[in-house]
Amino acid sequence: MNVKKIEQLYEGKAKKVFSTEDPEVVIVDYKDDATAFDGMKKGTILGKGAINNQMTNFLMQQLEKAGVPTHFVEELSERETAVKRVTIVPLEVIIRNVSAGSFAKRYGVKEGIVFDEPTIEFSYKDDDLHDPLINDYHAVALHLATWEEIEVIKKYAFQVNDFLKKTLLECGVTLVDFKLEFGKTSDGTIVLADEISPDTCRFWDAKTGEKLDKDRFRRDLGNVEGAYQEMARRLMGK
Ligand code: UDP
Repeated sequence: MNVKKIEQLYEGKAKKVFSTEDPEVVIVDYKDDATAFDGMKKGTILGKGAINNQMTNFLMQQLEKAGVPTHFVEELSERETAVKRVTIVPLEVIIRNVSAGSFAKRYGVKEGIVFDEPTIEFSYKDDDLHDPLINDYHAVALHLATWEEIEVIKKYAFQVNDFLKKTLLECGVTLVDFKLEFGKTSDGTIVLADEISPDTCRFWDAKTGEKLDKDRFRRDLGNVEGAYQEMARRLMGK
């Protein structure tokens, strides 16, 4: 496939998006920039863009085979990927297997409680409102998605969890929690979009509990680059 960047459509915190000659295809370009705490903390994680791009593509290709449609089209370079142009459903879909982060804080519990079954929650993607927690009734009331779309999103999100949990455990990693985003293609099909990476997941070493994700950056734990590289090595052997 011969896809080239034409014009920058958007620059987010971790990625840039470019148009191509094909109105149904855009190119995402992953940056090394990292932000946390609502953009209050800023930094650089060297090599992160390349790792997140390749890990996302590696996982999305396998998810497609497992029956979850994704936006993936073709990896173009270390940091660039052609993906289907979608309208992002403005919901962050969070699945949790173990208590951590905002869950532990909100309910006043420790991190590391293993749940009997995974949980799902949504945040309304709106920077000005600081991505508030939202339930499905409110999402439908605000026309962020239809009931049918929410049902499909929930089904795919749990399928992603089943696949990821198993794949990671084989690499000696516990999948604590993660965030997904879904998009709608021009014909209205819901597909998995955005990324699946140490930026958007919590990965703990299954034996030692060592954090191998963006919490190392958020909490100043050191060896941030090393954690991203370790996850790339364990999952993709590179
Ligand atoms: N997450 C994310 N983007 C966000 C918020 C959360 O990718 O804007 C991911 C985060 O990395 C973690 C999961 O979603 O794997 C659950 O995050 P949580 O709600 O605990 O929030 P946090 O503690 O990151 O503020």
